[in-house]
Amino acid sequence: MGTSKTGWNLENSYTQLPEVFYSRQNPNPVPAPKLVLFNNALAASLGLHAEELQSEEGVQVLAGNLVPDGAAPLAQAYAGHQFGHFTRLGDGRAVLIGEQITPTGERFDIQLKGPGRTPYSRGGDGRAALGPMLREYIISEAMHGLGIPTTRSLAVAATGETVYRENPLPGAILTRVASSHLRVGTFQYAAQWGSADDLRALADYAIQRHYPEAADAENRYLALLQAVIDRQAALIAKWMLVGFIHGVMNTDNMTISGETIDYGPCAFMDTYKLATVFSSIDVQGRYAYGNQPYIGGWNLARFAETLIPLLHENEEQALQMAQDAIAQYTDIYRTHWLAGMRAKLGLFNAEAEDKDLIDILLGLMEQHQADYTNTFRALTFDKLEATELFGIAEFAEWLKLWNGRQDRQPESREASQQLMRDSNPAVIPRNHRVEAALEYAGQGDFSVLERLLSVLATPYAHSPEQEEYAAAPGASAVPYRTFCGT
Ligand code: AMP
Ligand code: MG
Repeated sequence: MGTSKTGWNLENSYTQLPEVFYSRQNPNPVPAPKLVLFNNALAASLGLHAEELQSEEGVQVLAGNLVPDGAAPLAQAYAGHQFGHFTRLGDGRAVLIGEQITPTGERFDIQLKGPGRTPYSRGGDGRAALGPMLREYIISEAMHGLGIPTTRSLAVAATGETVYRENPLPGAILTRVASSHLRVGTFQYAAQWGSADDLRALADYAIQRHYPEAADAENRYLALLQAVIDRQAALIAKWMLVGFIHGVMNTDNMTISGETIDYGPCAFMDTYKLATVFSSIDVQGRYAYGNQPYIGGWNLARFAETLIPLLHENEEQALQMAQDAIAQYTDIYRTHWLAGMRAKLGLFNAEAEDKDLIDILLGLMEQHQADYTNTFRALTFDKLEATELFGIAEFAEWLKLWNGRQDRQPESREASQQLMRDSNPAVIPRNHRVEAALEYAGQGDFSVLERLLSVLATPYAHSPEQEEYAAAPGASAVPYRTFCGT
């Protein structure tokens, strides 16, 4: 299909990597493609023509029945630590169509998720069900709205095929857009099963694609490691600041670019509680909300290990360099997190006691089961009677500390409130809202989902329409559970 009509402008730099890193793989055809969600704004920014892409022919591409001109479809090989256990993996239910070069010259992977079996499918069918693909669309786009680096969702097409999980479900394909799909697990794969040259080629590719400035460093591979540590520390801090729980922080689900990837069992926390776990398979709480920063460090240590042959010809020195870089992670993470928390509290400058100020508030929130997002909203708009903490003596004490702290900075109260408005979302994709949207969509009514998406697109607008979406769910006897959606 012609590039002029739809705007496809594809390159395939991944195919220049050694062959161990991928297998050529066309998407497998589906019987009855039907577009159910389409992201007009994202299409436009990619230089794609929304109308053409939504035409019958365009939808054939989004469903994997037609390969656009310039595409070289492939499935990527990777490995990963899944809940701590090392395994050989790969795109078992995804095919990379190509890399779209946007009108401004940026490069984005266009990947179909759910296009049928690949050489890495193992026992799986390579297919995806409609519900989980819609869920990924909602949450990834909500993350983008929140200003958190993430893979994006261009479209969901129903396939007309039934996929069999515990129950028969309607099948679907999601078009995922990412600045790349390089993972910590891709490096683990190279270190375990590739040659020294393969590993070096991968690292050079990652530098060229994501950290070109590292190429000029004295030790480019150390610069790569440090850059990924910083990006991931910043990312995980952002998750923590909005109450996002990824749910399956395996090393194959951690990108080199620093984008959030793999929206399986993720969910947002309502009530502030460090031990919150939603994923049904995370029985040990390995990926609980409060554990995420530690797991980030653990995963980055696995990344650092893969780079040892590249860091220095002397293995002992290489090991030392890797360890030194990893040792920085906790401080880097804390710095990002503290900066974000200060902004949430309207603080422009730094004082040594800020960490204590924040910890007292979070401690009170945990103790009194306060809603995380709405506590910060109430502080922003001085509507304290709306919070679970209202009337509690320790909270009144804390407010005095916070007020005193604000008085000690030169910026006005107005400026401080503006900073809080820009740092505390009115809406997050709350589980009960997401579930309701999916339920209606399952019955063919997408209006609830579309409205939710529009509210989530501008979470810092604090508009009147957002008010009803800001409400926390009522008490439930059954805790919220998420599933991997494979
Ligand atoms: P995930 O839990 O989505 O990170 O997936 C872990 C691994 O399982 C990846 O290698 C996926 O490609 C693979 N996988 C997940 N679902 C399927 C499926 N339905 N068919 C084949 N492979 C799958
Ligand atoms: Mg994954």
